[in-house]
Amino acid sequence: MHKPLYIKEFLAAFEQVVPQALAYDWDAVGLQMGDVNTPLTGILTTLDVTEAVVDEAIEQGVNLIMSHHPIMFKPMKKIDFSTVKGRLIKKCLLNGLTIFSAHTNYDRVDGGMNDRLADRLALVNREMLVEEDEIKNVKLQVFVPHTHKEILDEALTRLGIGTMGNYEACVYETDGIGRFQPTDKADPFIGERQTREAVEEVKLEYLITHDQVSNALSIIDEVHPYETPAFDLIPLLNTGKVRGIGRVGDLTEPISFHPFIKKVKETFGLDGVRVAGQSDKLIKRVAILGGSGEKFTMAALKKQADVYITGDMTFHSTQDIAALGLNIIDAGHYLESVMKDDFKEICQAIFKKTDCDYPIVVSRVNTNPFRFI
Ligand SMILES: [Zn+2]
Repeated sequence: MHKPLYIKEFLAAFEQVVPQALAYDWDAVGLQMGDVNTPLTGILTTLDVTEAVVDEAIEQGVNLIMSHHPIMFKPMKKIDFSTVKGRLIKKCLLNGLTIFSAHTNYDRVDGGMNDRLADRLALVNREMLVEEDEIKNVKLQVFVPHTHKEILDEALTRLGIGTMGNYEACVYETDGIGRFQPTDKADPFIGERQTREAVEEVKLEYLITHDQVSNALSIIDEVHPYETPAFDLIPLLNTGKVRGIGRVGDLTEPISFHPFIKKVKETFGLDGVRVAGQSDKLIKRVAILGGSGEKFTMAALKKQADVYITGDMTFHSTQDIAALGLNIIDAGHYLESVMKDDFKEICQAIFKKTDCDYPIVVSRVNTNPFRFI
């Protein structure tokens, strides 16, 4: 028998992996509906939330749907049960389902949608298709009495703090003496009011990203025994990682356009794709962006991609970009459905860390509105 895990606890752990702060302002990510103060019974991962997907979740007895596309992308003014969306919401609520979406935050996070797409094509020498901002690094140093060193370090590193390249839980430790004198108003954990105190303390230093600061401070607040914990946040000039969307990278071996199309179809399990550009072109450098990537065609050209794989391309812009020499594979928006397996992996890792075990169902519903005949 595994210990119960509340949906809000699971979502807090998911937030560490895919922070909502990374989403674009216009997006509608995170909790879409439901009661997060409910014990989790299981998870269903899906690209879209349709009625068939909701039926599947009910049938499988899971109460959390983790989707990529938000169910309520456009703000609603009323919930009319006679509409498709209204009926869907009614069904979710009556069946106690919680719906949570990670959309552009998952597109942008390191190791998210676009990295996973590039992984599947084994692209090397990878860079961002569109560079958006640099992740700022911060040095966190926190001074803690010896007795609480382990517990604080464990709580911080569990959040992914102290990750450097392929190394996790990186911390530098220095012993020292902390001196202080509690005032009349203080409620000291160690020492007496109005008496000078000296305590053997440890300074723990971590490299953290700017996004991790608020989580780190709430952990210090929660775990540090002192009434007023001492810590420093020092902005660093070290170059941080660049964040952005889409990926560009090289194939290990150049390949002609037609065999490459076949490879893309096989890799992503696609029945058909629309292509444009020169049929005899040799493909070495590949740009890929899941979803509707039409507005980034010039970025793909600038990054010297031979082909750009994305979805939702329209007639005229495809015509224009192909004339400039960039080949296009419109693999459809449904290309993104590979995230169903990737979300499962993320959920499994969270269960492993939290010592829980619940069913994770990868939706079998094909939510692609298009089919090839
Ligand atoms: Zn999408």
